[in-house]
Amino acid sequence: MAAHKIAIIPGDGIGTEVVPEGLKVLDAAGRKFGIDYEFTHFDWSCERYKDTGEFMPKDGIQQLSGHEAIFLGAVGWPGVPDHVSLWGLLIPIRREFDQYVNLRPVRLFEGVRSPLAGRKPGDIDYYVVRENCEGEYSSMGGRHNRGTEHDMAIQESVFTRRGVDRVMKFAFELAARRGKHVTSATKSNGIIHTMPFWDERFEEMKKAYPGFKTDQFHIDILTAHFVQHPDWFDVVVASNLFGDILSDLGPATTGTIAIAPSANLNPEGKHPSMFEPVHGSAPDIAGKGIANPIGQIWSGAMMLQHMGHQDAHDAILKAIETVLKDGGPKTPDLGGQASTADLGSAIAEVVASS
Ligand code: ATP
Ligand code: MG
Repeated sequence: MAAHKIAIIPGDGIGTEVVPEGLKVLDAAGRKFGIDYEFTHFDWSCERYKDTGEFMPKDGIQQLSGHEAIFLGAVGWPGVPDHVSLWGLLIPIRREFDQYVNLRPVRLFEGVRSPLAGRKPGDIDYYVVRENCEGEYSSMGGRHNRGTEHDMAIQESVFTRRGVDRVMKFAFELAARRGKHVTSATKSNGIIHTMPFWDERFEEMKKAYPGFKTDQFHIDILTAHFVQHPDWFDVVVASNLFGDILSDLGPATTGTIAIAPSANLNPEGKHPSMFEPVHGSAPDIAGKGIANPIGQIWSGAMMLQHMGHQDAHDAILKAIETVLKDGGPKTPDLGGQASTADLGSAIAEVVASS
């Protein structure tokens, strides 16, 4: 099989520390399962932005477009406003490559303590499917009457039938391979145009999946259920904003956000998809070599799954499980004293000997 062309963007802070561990584990899986890669490294980061005034070069999207996948660490650094890294890199990539699904698994592992009292592995095991290209994160709107007492801001949300249907379909197809249960996040009592539309499309999509369990909750009570009844969920589908919130809350209930991966998917594979941990660049611990690399490593596993290597994905997941459960090295966020490299190497070794 031809080598998979993968763009590597370590980014900032601990992104540059966890990406090498992700690559270590990808290499181990590659050797084990006969998968070849062709990696190209890009130094796009806040450092580059400070030097050149831009996050990526003008033809950055074009440079990435020849790749099958993008493996990203984290971008963002104190002194560079958050919206610069978001709108200078992440959002253009998500939109230009039509990565309309942001997929985030939420799972409690044995050996990691949930902040939710009494929760065991198996109680928390679901996916958040977030719409990633439209919705509340739009550039439509503006500011009016600045500096006067009539100062105001308008932000418009855009929900299209095509955009809503395709993310809902993805959620149902995912649920078909799991517990055949889809939950929709809404707020149609307060948001009276877009959210009733979202509900209508959910009702319509349900018809194509007879025998599925479906339910919907307003986002406010849904966040409470994530905390009080995480065992209720299998696949949760949500708009861009609601999905963003749910997919930070979910991983937080599993003990550490450092473990959580995410996939920005163009499911049809027409364009590259992007795989990155949920966590950010963590300036508070950057440079110390103590960041937990599991979110990055699991993101790599999702990348392999997307590229058709289910067996390699499963082996990496199993290795993460084994190392967490069997008293392997633990970084400080997991209550141990191991380094980023210790934990990465331990997982790579289990993959190699699996
Ligand atoms: P962003 O805006 O880029 O999402 P953030 O401000 O939400 O970033 P993070 O960088 O994710 O924040 O960090 C939040 C907290 O979690 C910090 O205290 C950080 O040290 C910790 N943290 C994040 N990632 C890891 C990791 N991989 N290992 C250990 N701790 C982490
Ligand atoms: Mg964050």
